[in-house]
Amino acid sequence: MINPESYIFTPGPVKMSPYILEIGARQSPYFRNETFSDILIECEKLLIDFASAPIGSRVVFLAASGTGAMEATVMNLLSTTDKAIVINGGGFGQRFVEMCNCHDIPILDHKVDGDNLADTASLDAYTGTTALLINAHETTNGTLYNMDAIGSYCKKNNLLHIVDAISMFVTDEINMTDQHIDALIISSHKGLALPPGLSMVILSPRAIERVGHHAKSLYFNFRNYLEDGLRGQPPFTPAVTILLQLHARLKQIERDTLNHEIDKTSRIAEYFRKHVSSWPLGLYSRFMPNAMTALTPTNDESALDIVKYLAEQCHIFVAPNGGALKDTVFRVSHMGDMTTDYVDVLIDALDHYYGVTR
Ligand SMILES: *Cc1c(COP(=O)(O)O)cnc(C)c1O
Repeated sequence: MINPESYIFTPGPVKMSPYILEIGARQSPYFRNETFSDILIECEKLLIDFASAPIGSRVVFLAASGTGAMEATVMNLLSTTDKAIVINGGGFGQRFVEMCNCHDIPILDHKVDGDNLADTASLDAYTGTTALLINAHETTNGTLYNMDAIGSYCKKNNLLHIVDAISMFVTDEINMTDQHIDALIISSHKGLALPPGLSMVILSPRAIERVGHHAKSLYFNFRNYLEDGLRGQPPFTPAVTILLQLHARLKQIERDTLNHEIDKTSRIAEYFRKHVSSWPLGLYSRFMPNAMTALTPTNDESALDIVKYLAEQCHIFVAPNGGALKDTVFRVSHMGDMTTDYVDVLIDALDHYYGVTR
């Protein structure tokens, strides 16, 4: 059974606010009407604004998890005649590699190990490329890439720039115009702090031109979404309730300002991180986002044992890693409706685990 008294520090789903939860408890309304169209159009406008997307950008709303939106973007914007650089610095970079393989899109699998690519010299040898795919925050190890440097590289080489910003949107800065981004992929259950099940792709005018020519899919062909979206309607039944929650959340960010939202996450991350040196734990990433802290034991303990202790003894959920990082890394998210009091629950539990008294 899921304990309602549990504390959630996972990078999706994240802690939701009481206001958002309350909207989730209401009846899903019928959506083929003007009331819903107005809401969808306003969501599109606010997302374009928060992403600093260029004039003429549009948003596709999908009833899918983030991976669905990543794959739909690959299918709609790339073809077998492309040659795409995939920045592969962990599990989510690898996911882009596998998607491109699945759709026969030629790629250069650019493996990265903990670097943020502030220096893009390692990419300079590539020629004949047409696109670049990157996860702005590689959530498996907590690395935030230098999107200014990547953006400049894409501009210089005239590459279609596809960015998975799922685990850093509204917690860390991103700017589609300044960073020359053509497709920005985001999802409901990370920084937006909504339930999982809704994902969005913000498309620049350059990306829109490519849409629909190659997608071998009816449901995921962006052309239908863009056409119907002009009048605020989705082509198929959308994630109605999550869209209403998204609207409420975007209006709240508009009132408080996006900078306030980013600062808030930054303060929560800093508050947590200043306690880390009291435990036999180290910061795993040199380039941390506000959104999350990846930790590694500095004694010979397994990271998985700490995750299990917190879940089983304290009802606190942090994220374990899989594969090769299973024993060396676990992750603490700072996304969502966090307060220092809430973070104290985790800090107290780790103090108790390590016998630290303050
Ligand atoms: C969470 C996440 C996704 C999406 O994963 P889903 O399980 O499909 O929602 C994609 N990319 C990154 C970087 C993520 O953190």
